[in-house]
Amino acid sequence: MSRITRLTAKIPGPDTGIEVKKSLCAICDPLTQCGLDVYLKDARIIKIEGSAEHPFNKGAICPKGAAGRQYVYHENRIKTPLRRVGPRGSGTFEPISWDEALDSIAEGCMTAKSGYGPESVIFFSGYTKYFRPYLRRLARSFGSPNYCTESSTCFMATAMAQKLVFGAPGGPDMANTDCLMVWSSNPYHTAHGRGAAIDRALDRGMKMIVVDPRRTPTTSRAHIHLRPRPGTDGALALSMANMIIEENIYDADFVANHTYGFEEYREYVRTFTPERGEELTGVPAANIRAAARMFATARRACIMPSASPVVHHTNGVQNYRAVFMLAALTGNYDVRGGNFVEPPSYLYVSGKMKTREDEFENPKPLSELAPRIGSDRFPVWMEIANGEAQSMHIPEQLRSGKPYPLKCLIGFGMNYRMWPDSEGFLKSLRNLDLIVNADIFMTDTCRRSDIVLPACTSLERSELRCHSMGYVQLSSPVIEPLYESRSDVDIIIDLAKRLCPDDPLFKQGYRATLDWILSPSGLTVDELEKSPGGMFLKNPINPPERKYESGARTPSGKIEFKSTVLEKYGERPGFESLPVYNPPKYSPDASPDMAKEYPFILNTGSRLPMFIHSRVNHLSWTRSLRANHPAADVNPEDARRLNIAQNDGLRLSTPFGSIEVRANLTEMVMKGVVHMYHGWGSADVNTLFEGDYLDPISGFPGFKSSLCKIERIVEAAA
Ligand code: SF4
Repeated sequence: MSRITRLTAKIPGPDTGIEVKKSLCAICDPLTQCGLDVYLKDARIIKIEGSAEHPFNKGAICPKGAAGRQYVYHENRIKTPLRRVGPRGSGTFEPISWDEALDSIAEGCMTAKSGYGPESVIFFSGYTKYFRPYLRRLARSFGSPNYCTESSTCFMATAMAQKLVFGAPGGPDMANTDCLMVWSSNPYHTAHGRGAAIDRALDRGMKMIVVDPRRTPTTSRAHIHLRPRPGTDGALALSMANMIIEENIYDADFVANHTYGFEEYREYVRTFTPERGEELTGVPAANIRAAARMFATARRACIMPSASPVVHHTNGVQNYRAVFMLAALTGNYDVRGGNFVEPPSYLYVSGKMKTREDEFENPKPLSELAPRIGSDRFPVWMEIANGEAQSMHIPEQLRSGKPYPLKCLIGFGMNYRMWPDSEGFLKSLRNLDLIVNADIFMTDTCRRSDIVLPACTSLERSELRCHSMGYVQLSSPVIEPLYESRSDVDIIIDLAKRLCPDDPLFKQGYRATLDWILSPSGLTVDELEKSPGGMFLKNPINPPERKYESGARTPSGKIEFKSTVLEKYGERPGFESLPVYNPPKYSPDASPDMAKEYPFILNTGSRLPMFIHSRVNHLSWTRSLRANHPAADVNPEDARRLNIAQNDGLRLSTPFGSIEVRANLTEMVMKGVVHMYHGWGSADVNTLFEGDYLDPISGFPGFKSSLCKIERIVEAAA
C-alpha cells in the first residue's frame, strides 16, 4: 500500500507520521467516560475512535464523541481570558492576561468576603465535572458553604428518593438480574455502554419492563412497556405495590425483618387497585398486573432509575420513593441481581477502590459555615443531599437578599438556561457584583459574565476516572491546550493561591493532590501515567451483600416505607412520610381550569443521541443529524386533528410565555403530550416555566410536566 493510500486511510506508522494516543471523552459526564484512540499528525488530531480494549465502551463511541475533533477545533473556542468592557450582556470584551483575570476575580471575592462574609460568594459547577472535588474544596477553604452544581436539577433528587427509602442508593446489577425494570431511562441515547449491557443481559434471557411515556430504543426492546402520562409514576408504582401485596408475592421475611412502616404503607396502597392505577396513569390495568407479576416473581429483579425524567415533576421525589419501594417490597435491595450498594470511589462512581475524595472536598465541616442557599426552603435537601447548596433558590435569594446577600458567582461551565424561567434567573443576576464563567466555548452565559476564562477540552489535559468494573484511568493530554486555554483544575489551583493561600494541599499542586486522594487505593500518579488508556485494579474491593443487616443508613436503621426524615416536616404540603401520590401541580387532574386553555401536557428535555443539553448544539456534524432548527415533538394523531404538518411553524405557549418552533411529528411522543428539546437559545423552552415550579422536597423543577397549547403559525415551506 502506498504512503499516500496509508495517509488517506489515516494508518499510523513511521512512514505516515501518524501516531495514536490514548485519552478519554468527557463531553457527557460523569458516568460514561469512553476510552478514545486519538490519531495525530503534526500534533493535530486527525481522527478519533473508541478504544477497543477499553472495558467500558469496548470501541464504541456516540455521535457526540465522534464529533470530538470538531469540538476541539471549533472556531467558537474562547481563546484568552476576557474582561467585559461594555454593559453587562453586551458581549463586548477585551483580552487580558491570566494573572490580570485571576487577580481581578480574587479581588472581587475578597471584597465580598470582607463586606458580607465568604457565604456571599457562590462557586458553581456545570459541565464538565471532573474538577468538582477541587472546586468544592476551593469553596470550603475560602469559607463559603455555597458550592453548588447542575445536580440541583439532575440526579440528586433520584439519590434523595433512594436515600429516604434505603439510606444508601443501590444501582441495578444488570449482569446478575433476571428482570430489569427501567423506569424512564433510555441509555441507548444517553449512555451507550449501558445500552450494550442491556443487550448482553437480554441475550442471556433477562426479562425487561420499561416504564416510559415515550417510545424509545429501550422501550422497543421491552417485554412489557408501560406508558404512564408524565408525572403519574407514583400512582403506577403504588398500583403495582397493591397488586404485589394483594397476590401475596412480596418478600414477607425481608419486609418483616428489615423494614419500617409497612402496615401503614399497606393500608395506603390498598386503594390503588390496578383499575384505579389505569384511571390515574392511563396504563391498562392488565399491563400493570402483568408487570407487577413479572417483577415480583423473578428470582432477582432490579430497577434502573434515571437522572431526571421521574424527578423533574413537582411530585418527583414522592413518585420515585414509591418506585424504589418496589425493590424493598420484593427483597431486591442490596443483593446481587437486585439494586446493589457499592460505595462511590471518585466522582460519583463506584470504582471498587477507596479514595480520600470526601476528606479532600471537605476541609471544613459544613457546621462551621453559614447556612447554604435554600436551607430554609429545602431542609430535606440540606439533610440528605451531598452537602451542596440548592442552586434553584439562587434567584429568590438574589432578589430578597435574605437570609444574606449574594455578591459573586464563580462559575465553571455554568449555563443560565438550566433554570426554570431562565430569563427571570438572568435578571436576578443583575444583583451580583461579579459574574465569572470558565468554559470551552463562548456561550450565552459567558456573554453575560464580567470575566470569562478559557477552559480546555479533555484531550488537552489530564483527568482521573474510575469505572464500576474496577478499572481506573488517568488520562494525559494528547495535544497542548489550544490558544491560552487551561485545565479547570489548574485554574482552580491558581485561584486557591489567591483565595486560600494557606490550604496545605492546594499549595502542593495537581499531582500531589491526586496522590493524596488516591493514597488509600495504593495507586499513584506515576503508576497510572504508565497506562494512559487505563488499568484494571489488582485488588478490587467487592462489597458483601445485605449490608443493611447491620443497620440501614436511615434514622430507624431499617428500610423505610414510611420516612422518618419526612415525618419531621409532616406539616409541609408534599412532605408526607408515606409515598403519597399527588398529581403534578399543573396537570389535567390538578389544574383542570388551566387545562381547558392549555390542553397538552408539556414534557421537555428528553435526550437525543447527538446532543447533551446544549453542549454540542453548535457543531455542524451533530446538528446535521437533526433538523437545524428548534422543533417540538407532536403525536401525528394530534397533529392531524389540529391540521399541523411536519415542519410547520408552531407557537408553543404556556401561561408564562411562548416560543416559536417547528413541528416534528413522531410516534415517540404520546397523544396529548408535546415534547420540546431544551437548550436552544433561539427557542428556550425553560422560559415557559415559572421560576417557582419546583418539587417541594428536592427543589427540582417540574420540567417534565406542565400544561401548554400549540398553534400553527406558518405552513412548512414546500
Ligand atoms: S459523549 Fe459519547 S463518546 Fe463521549 S463519553 Fe459520552 S457517550 Fe462516550
